Amino acid sequence: MVLVFSDNKNLTFEMLSKASELAKNLNKKVTAVIIGKTDDALAKEYISFGADKVFVAETNLESFKAEEYTDILGNIVKETGAETILIGSNKNGKELAARLGGKLNAGCVIDSNNIYLKDKKLTAERVVYSGNAIAVEQFNSTPAIVTVPSKAFDRLKKDDSRKGDIIKKKIDAEKSTSKILKVQEMKTEGVNVEDAEIIVSCGRGFKNKEDIKLVQELADVLKGKTVGCSRPIAADMKWLPEECWIGLSGHKVKPKLYIAAGISGQIQHIAGMRDSGIIVAINKDPDALIFKSADYGIVGDLYEVLPKLTSAVKEKMG
Ligand SMILES: Cc1cc2nc3c(=O)[nH]c(=O)nc-3n(C[C@H](O)[C@H](O)[C@H](O)COP(=O)(O)OP(=O)(O)OC[C@H]3O[C@@H](n4cnc5c(N)ncnc54)[C@H](O)[C@@H]3O)c2cc1C
Repeated sequence: MVLVFSDNKNLTFEMLSKASELAKNLNKKVTAVIIGKTDDALAKEYISFGADKVFVAETNLESFKAEEYTDILGNIVKETGAETILIGSNKNGKELAARLGGKLNAGCVIDSNNIYLKDKKLTAERVVYSGNAIAVEQFNSTPAIVTVPSKAFDRLKKDDSRKGDIIKKKIDAEKSTSKILKVQEMKTEGVNVEDAEIIVSCGRGFKNKEDIKLVQELADVLKGKTVGCSRPIAADMKWLPEECWIGLSGHKVKPKLYIAAGISGQIQHIAGMRDSGIIVAINKDPDALIFKSADYGIVGDLYEVLPKLTSAVKEKMG
C-alpha cells in the first residue's frame, strides 16, 4: 500500500497523483490519511484526486505536535501494512517524517522531486549541493518514507465519480512530555507565491526598497498581484517578507508566467522557479545566467524596462 499524509490538502492532492502512479506499478492501493477531526468533504476530495481509501484517525489533538503525530501515523502504518509512505515536505512534514523513520527503523528521503521504480526498487531523487547535483537514492527495506515538496507533481484531474472507502477510527496518541503553550498564526499580507499564476520577482538589481513598487505595479496590471524575490531581498535586505522568497531554500513556484527583474539566475534561485510556464528575464548584463533559463529575455536597465512594460501591458489590457 502507498500511504499519503500532509496537513496541507493541496500538497496531498499533488502527492496522490504520484502515489497513484506508484501504486499502479506496484499493483497496490493508495490510502490518504487525515489526522484530527473527521472531514467527510475532504475525504471525498482525496478520493476524487486518486485515493482508494481514506483513513481518518479521530483524535482529540488541538494542533500539530510531531511526537503525537508520529505515534499516530506509526500505528496507522503498522495497522495498514503500508510499504511506501509519502509525506508533504513542509516544516511539520519534515519533522514528522524523520521521527517516523526513527520510530519504524525505516529509510527516509527528504524533499524528493522525482520518485519511481528502478529494478523493482523504490527510487527517489533529490537536489543536493545547492542545486548543483541530483542524488538518486534507493530503498533496500520497507517501509520507505519520502517527503515531497509542493509543486513537485501535478495533481490528477478531479474525478468525482471515483469510489473509495472512508475508514474512521478513534486513535489516542501517547501523551508527549512537551507542551504547546501558544499557537500564533503568521501574519501574511495575502501573499501566496506557491498558488500564484503570475509572479513578478525582484533581485539585487534593485537599488532601494522603495523601487520594489516597480514590480508591484507590473504585477498589479497583470492582475497577478503577486510579487516574489530572490534570497538577498528577503533574507539580507529584508525588503520583502520571507513568503516572497523563491528558490532552493525559499518557496518552489510554478506560475504560468514568471518575470524575473534584476535577478542573476544562480542555480539556487532557478531551483525554485524552473517549472514556471513562461519565464521572462530582465537584466542589464547580456551574459547573465538567468537568460539560459528564460523563454524571453530583455537586456536592459530594469529602471527603464519595467515602467515601459507596465504601461504597455496597461494599454493592451485596456
Ligand atoms: C545553500 C544556499 C541556498 C540558497 N537559496 C537561495 C534561494 O532559495 N533563493 C535565491 O534566490 N537564492 C538562494 N541562494 C543565493 C543564491 O546563490 C544567489 O546568491 C542569489 O540568488 C542572488 O540573488 P540575486 O540574483 O538577486 O542577486 P545577484 O546575484 O547580485 O544579481 C543581481 C543581478 O541584477 C542585475 N542588475 C543589476 N542592476 C540592474 C539593473 N539596473 N537593471 C537590470 N539588471 C540589473 C545584475 O546584472 C545581476 O545579474 C542560496 C545560496 C545558498 C548557498
